[in-house]
Amino acid sequence: EQTPDHAYATLHIDLDALVANWRTIGAAVSPATAGAVVKADAYGLGAVPVTQALADAGCRHFFVAHLGEAEAIREAGILPPDAQLYILNGLMPGGEPACAAIGAVPVLNCLAQIEGWAAFARATGRTWRAALQVDTGMSRLGLSPDEVQTLIAQPQRLEGVEPVLLMSHLACADDPDAPANGSQLAAFERIGALFPGLPRSLDNSGGAMQRRPAHFDIARPGIALYGGAPHEHAVNPMRPVVTLDTRIVQLRTIPPGAGVGYGLSFVADRPTRIATIPVGYADGWPRHLSGKGSAFIAGHRAPIAGRVSMDSITLDVTDVPEEHLYPGAPVELLGPHQGIEDVARDAGTISYEILTRLGHRYARILH
Ligand code: PLP
Repeated sequence: EQTPDHAYATLHIDLDALVANWRTIGAAVSPATAGAVVKADAYGLGAVPVTQALADAGCRHFFVAHLGEAEAIREAGILPPDAQLYILNGLMPGGEPACAAIGAVPVLNCLAQIEGWAAFARATGRTWRAALQVDTGMSRLGLSPDEVQTLIAQPQRLEGVEPVLLMSHLACADDPDAPANGSQLAAFERIGALFPGLPRSLDNSGGAMQRRPAHFDIARPGIALYGGAPHEHAVNPMRPVVTLDTRIVQLRTIPPGAGVGYGLSFVADRPTRIATIPVGYADGWPRHLSGKGSAFIAGHRAPIAGRVSMDSITLDVTDVPEEHLYPGAPVELLGPHQGIEDVARDAGTISYEILTRLGHRYARILH
């Protein structure tokens, strides 16, 4: 870990809050169990430390998107022997041996992926575990209703494949009132009855936090673990996991009429104090925040003045008391005054995109 003393910005990741969030979801889905979606480097927070913290807390089901992500977690040697590692996108043709070598469970999303895994089973003369995903209305990944019928009519297609989980994914789980939730739930129940005894998994964060009698067997939360809101229009019950601090690198006062930054898109209408901070879009701070977003200095809002640059942002700090303004003074980008949802709203995106973009240029401190 870099020391934060001279760092230009520091990303703090609170692993206790992460584990607390996982427990909150576990309680909401009980008696089902909560797994964890750790794809995209655990939404940018670090797949290895996140997986390790959750495994230590008792989590046994981990979901990544790609084979390479599963390999990285396996190589770190942090998974307990009884933990399962699922690959949500399934395998590209030819990925079967590498998947088998690390004991990962591919999510088979179509008959072609099933055939690839079954052919690998024939070639190796043994049975391999897999999850089956069915499409219940999102039309993204998963066996179509016709493909499900084909599979039921021709069970030999699964020869050598041992299904260990039946999955589907909700399109509108962040809006509990959306009619699609009910129709997807009903479709999943119907299809589940065709695979008696097979454990089932439907819920992402939003689904897990919906009040309903059953959450099947395994929930797959992602964003809520990392402090994001499970439901769009409700108070967020999760603990924040990420804070991001930077520091003032330069200060100046400009007269009315002076422009700031690329394109001079901000023009001062009064004597204006400008603080430059050394964070930009190369650090994942969206350029869409140009002229829209904010930072906070000692709790005072400082609007972004002009365009976000690659490695710097100019803030209008005219209304911030002078005693908080000096080179090296702390500036909050994510913290008590501004969470990932606030930044996402200002940037016209979702908290997922803010987190996964943060990247690895900052100093990182895991608590
Ligand atoms: N399950 C699947 C198949 C996913 O693709 C994702 C993420 O997009 C999740 C679960 C986790 O979703 P969320 O981060 O909304 O909890």
